[in-house]
Amino acid sequence: MSIAKNITELQKELNPIGVSLVAISKTKPNEDIMEAYDAGQRIFGENQVQDLVAKYESLPKDIEWHLVGHLQTNKVKYIAPFVSLIHSVDSMKVLAEINKHALKNNRTIDCLLQIFIADEDTKFGLDHAEAIELLRDEEFQALKNIRIRGLMGIASNTENEKIVKEEFYELKMLFDGIKTTYFRKVDSFDILSMGMSSDYKIAIEQGSNMVRLGSTIFGKRVIKHFKAK
Ligand SMILES: *Cc1c(COP(=O)(O)O)cnc(C)c1O
Repeated sequence: MSIAKNITELQKELNPIGVSLVAISKTKPNEDIMEAYDAGQRIFGENQVQDLVAKYESLPKDIEWHLVGHLQTNKVKYIAPFVSLIHSVDSMKVLAEINKHALKNNRTIDCLLQIFIADEDTKFGLDHAEAIELLRDEEFQALKNIRIRGLMGIASNTENEKIVKEEFYELKMLFDGIKTTYFRKVDSFDILSMGMSSDYKIAIEQGSNMVRLGSTIFGKRVIKHFKAK
């Protein structure tokens, strides 16, 4: 199937149930992104700051760019002028830096807290206690140029659907708990970003309203870096 066809099919599947599609275009060339764009896709995500900046500069300005990969504080300044959602906030330090650069750019930057849900120690994110601690922090409450829109999580990379389902369930419970406790009157706390190509259907069953799909749209990525055995 072509990229355009994949986008059309996914939009048909996701739009009626209110799930947003972030097309993860990491490692993919501008021509592929334009094919998705011409099929109507407007939200794209990258996991590297330098790729996000390069693609933002060379592609149509009505694209909403999301950062889904780990963000280092020293790189915040490059994306602050244009990024529309940062999925990967995992510390007070990076959040304060985002706020600082949002203010400089005279904007409010939407962010998700990345929650660690996987059964692996290689993935970034806050655990439940750390997320709550951040939300209760006075320093956090003083930040006026960021807006926490919700949570993001990456499930374990396993064939075992039961594990994946439990991890997404857990994240949905945390989302509901945080919403009730800290954002009761805040309508903009409304995004639960969970689900990738291999597990997005399970994520949606468990309450996701934003999925991040790369290979389902663009085909397999060529792995550029590998370790010699
Ligand atoms: C690469 C990536 C995706 C998309 O992965 P696919 O399996 O290709 O759909 C989603 N989320 C994050 C954080 C990623 O880094």
